[in-house]
Amino acid sequence: MKAYKFRIYPNKEQTEKLEFALDTCRQAYNMMLGELNEQVVIDKAQIQAMLPDMKICEPKFRGVYSKTLQYECYRLFSNLSALRVLKQNKKKVGRLRFKGKGWFKTINYNQSGFKLDKENKRLSLSKIGNIKIKLHREVEGNIKQITIKNSIDKWYVTIITDAVIKTKCGDKVIGIDMSPSKFGVRSDGVKISMLKEIDVTLMKLKKSHRNLSRKKKGSKNRLKTRKQLQKNYWRLNNQKVNFYHQTSYKLVKECKLIGIEDLSIKGMMMGYYNAKNFQKSGWSTFINKYLIYKAESAGCQVWRCDRFEPTSKKCSCCGWINKELKLSDRTFNCSKCGLIIDRDLNAAINIKKTCRQGTCLCGVDSSTVEKQQESVLKQEATSFTEW
Ligand SMILES: [Zn+2]
Repeated sequence: MKAYKFRIYPNKEQTEKLEFALDTCRQAYNMMLGELNEQVVIDKAQIQAMLPDMKICEPKFRGVYSKTLQYECYRLFSNLSALRVLKQNKKKVGRLRFKGKGWFKTINYNQSGFKLDKENKRLSLSKIGNIKIKLHREVEGNIKQITIKNSIDKWYVTIITDAVIKTKCGDKVIGIDMSPSKFGVRSDGVKISMLKEIDVTLMKLKKSHRNLSRKKKGSKNRLKTRKQLQKNYWRLNNQKVNFYHQTSYKLVKECKLIGIEDLSIKGMMMGYYNAKNFQKSGWSTFINKYLIYKAESAGCQVWRCDRFEPTSKKCSCCGWINKELKLSDRTFNCSKCGLIIDRDLNAAINIKKTCRQGTCLCGVDSSTVEKQQESVLKQEATSFTEW
């Protein structure tokens, strides 16, 4: 499956219809959740059967495409099963929450109810209309699903097709050491640095946070500043996603094997300041959400070093271990063989050498899936009561 994201430009009438659909879907979700809460034994079929009744009682439900409403039932049950998985893993979970106004940002068209007119650059959606779309790249394959997303005052569409991604991996074997100051250093000496624009946006974010706190609550200026803040967050996210996509694509195109270190240990080792940088660089997101799937589809492998491998303290030339190496030391001096090398480069070479004794991250990795579900459900959990 391949996903494409495009911007769409609905006119005023279409925007109103989209907003109406979002809110109606939210109400349908809440009604089904209410029914679910009252059930002693969960009966999915009964909840699914509510939709036709709802359409009779409340005519406004007829204004939304039927499959879009049906999707809300699917959404409810997938939330529920994710919650169950968490509970099985002995995590503290709460109940599913009713969604307040403005909480829903996406609506779904599955299999039918849409048509993409590539020539006239229009996306027609059932019950919404012909929306202008900016097709900045070719859509390959048959469209399986369409998701409309609202983000601040812009609208996007994600098109999922059955096209197979055809990237070929390269032939290099490299290790990457992530460093807090740069993004990372490769074992062949190439430095991967975060985009400078990201730092600029971070500065702007800081400024608008400060601005917001100075504005009077409930004032128009505060609302304006808040919009500005949202826009900056949106920009930061775009810049990061762009950087992750480009970097991971480049890596996969050049390499057939990529070694990385165990991130949980790295995070713990860092002090407060570095931890902040570490968070900023978003290494785990980069690996779990961008690098692994690209590598898998191209036939490239990603290996994670064993957790107890002393990658930064070991000499990459002779294997001597420098126990006194501090976090602030930027160069590695080997007193056995005399090697003087950049600290991060030394670690990257070690990672390249030893990563294959660790774990291969390609293929089904349940721990990453679990972690993703966990982060989604943190928002879901309202109380810590067991149920
Ligand atoms: Zn040495």
